[in-house]
Amino acid sequence: QFPFGRRLPCDIYWHGVSFHDNDIFSGQVNKFPGMTEMVRKITLSRAVRTMQDLFPLEYNFYPRSWILPEELPLFVAEVRMMKDSDPSWKPTFIVKPDGGCQGDGIYLIKDPSDIRLTGSIQSRPAVVQEYICKPLLVDKLKFDIRLYVLLKSLEPLEIYIAKDGLSRFCTEPYQEPTLKNLHQVFMHLTNYSLNIHSGNFIHSDNVNTGSKRTFSSVLCRLSSRGADVKKLWSDIISLVIKTIIALTPELKVYYQSDIPAGKPGPTCFQILGFDILLMKNLKPMLLEVNANPSMRIEHEQELSPGVFENVPSPVDEEVKVAVIRDTLRLVDPQKKKRKDIQQHIESCKNKVNVRYNYFMCYRCQTLEHVSEANEELSDVGPADRPEYDAPKGPEAGLPSLCLKQVFPKYAKQFNYLRLVDRVAALFIRFLGVKGTTKLGPTGFRTFIRNCKLSNSNFSMASVDILYIDITRRWNSMGIDHKESGMCLQAFVEAFFCLAQKKYKSLPLHEQVASLIDFCEYHLAALDEKRLVCGRG
Ligand code: ADP
Repeated sequence: QFPFGRRLPCDIYWHGVSFHDNDIFSGQVNKFPGMTEMVRKITLSRAVRTMQDLFPLEYNFYPRSWILPEELPLFVAEVRMMKDSDPSWKPTFIVKPDGGCQGDGIYLIKDPSDIRLTGSIQSRPAVVQEYICKPLLVDKLKFDIRLYVLLKSLEPLEIYIAKDGLSRFCTEPYQEPTLKNLHQVFMHLTNYSLNIHSGNFIHSDNVNTGSKRTFSSVLCRLSSRGADVKKLWSDIISLVIKTIIALTPELKVYYQSDIPAGKPGPTCFQILGFDILLMKNLKPMLLEVNANPSMRIEHEQELSPGVFENVPSPVDEEVKVAVIRDTLRLVDPQKKKRKDIQQHIESCKNKVNVRYNYFMCYRCQTLEHVSEANEELSDVGPADRPEYDAPKGPEAGLPSLCLKQVFPKYAKQFNYLRLVDRVAALFIRFLGVKGTTKLGPTGFRTFIRNCKLSNSNFSMASVDILYIDITRRWNSMGIDHKESGMCLQAFVEAFFCLAQKKYKSLPLHEQVASLIDFCEYHLAALDEKRLVCGRG
């Protein structure tokens, strides 16, 4: 800890809240610039919605959401329309203030007219979401899952998921929402910070009982009821990868702004907390992503009235210690050095499969891990293998990794979803001045010209109108007033407009993919031309 500042450079910087240090020129930081902003309820909902517009079936793991106050009229109109078309539909909605946490300010409503408009909604934007009325219950209680995910690198994308997580239980038996029980937070909200105040809260002294259990213990229960746990894991992995794919385009914009390419700077990694709710049919639904998940392994206990003491929490310890330990193992700066040795081993002929996925080189007497590229999507599952004999070397004595790589391991199955990443790459190319996150009108015009997008049907005057219209609307939403210009989401909207104009009859994702190919082709040709001219 450096409470008074730090002089010497470090290998790893472990920040408490967010990426907030401009004085780091090397090493690794445990936070990505912009992550806290990206996982706020409104930003996450917008990012997922962009993906839902492109790939509605692939992104059906996030409840239908509307952003307040700007989409209140849309919310009212859409709900009315859905009710008219299906009078038996009796929905419930959950209203969550943006930037809130621990259930703060959350309430349930049955009708759009119940939204509390007085004061708070104007000053505090929120997301209103379809409430999942039929969650999976264990011991008649609603629960959610907290899973830890390591985003090890953004470029190239590298994602790991912890094999075990936490299950956080409500403390009142669940009933489907009615006007009478809507206010019962101990029945509807799974937040630990709320339920701890219920008289029914049970501190767990082992991992499979009480109000906070390991996810693996719940999986065991489900498996004994005949549930397909492998399929469930596969769905969870898919949810995590798709969610991160929705976040990466904007994260890259933040990244190039805070750590400009070509200048000395750190690399980043981050542990994220994914909150997931299982529906009765075992479908996982994303509730939210936490950029700064609690890593506490103790809880407060009231010894006598008013006297509290911190006592160890075995469930938290079981899950969280492994996550931190393995994150450090994966980002270990010495690993790079060992990688060089591995290259030697791979070129060495004297390899013998020792056990599981370790190879031993007799010449250099080193044990090295081997890629597990052929595993199935669900292979991350709860610890299902016996611990192997610990390797000799720096990791001697440590248990097998609890963090399992899921990307790039399953990249082939998900890469087709990464269209907005490619749009963001175009955006970043035309940002021009390093350190900005918004595109000026000249940058936008250059983009149109270099990609040969204007023609007799789409004049440069129309280009300017498109820029002004979309930029003004996004800037009036009050997201970020620090800089003027077109933000990434506005550029994405403009890009979708252009794609729809150019490739009329295709589905949206094909229109967008075709336009990206078209732009990339022209930019590559331009680069080639410049290279030749330069040489000349
Ligand atoms: P916070 O950041 O305040 O914890 P969450 O989005 O995690 O906000 O919501 C709090 C709790 O409310 C969740 O843990 C979950 O139990 C419940 N919840 C949230 N969204 C939904 C939903 N769409 N359907 C059902 N329950 C939900």
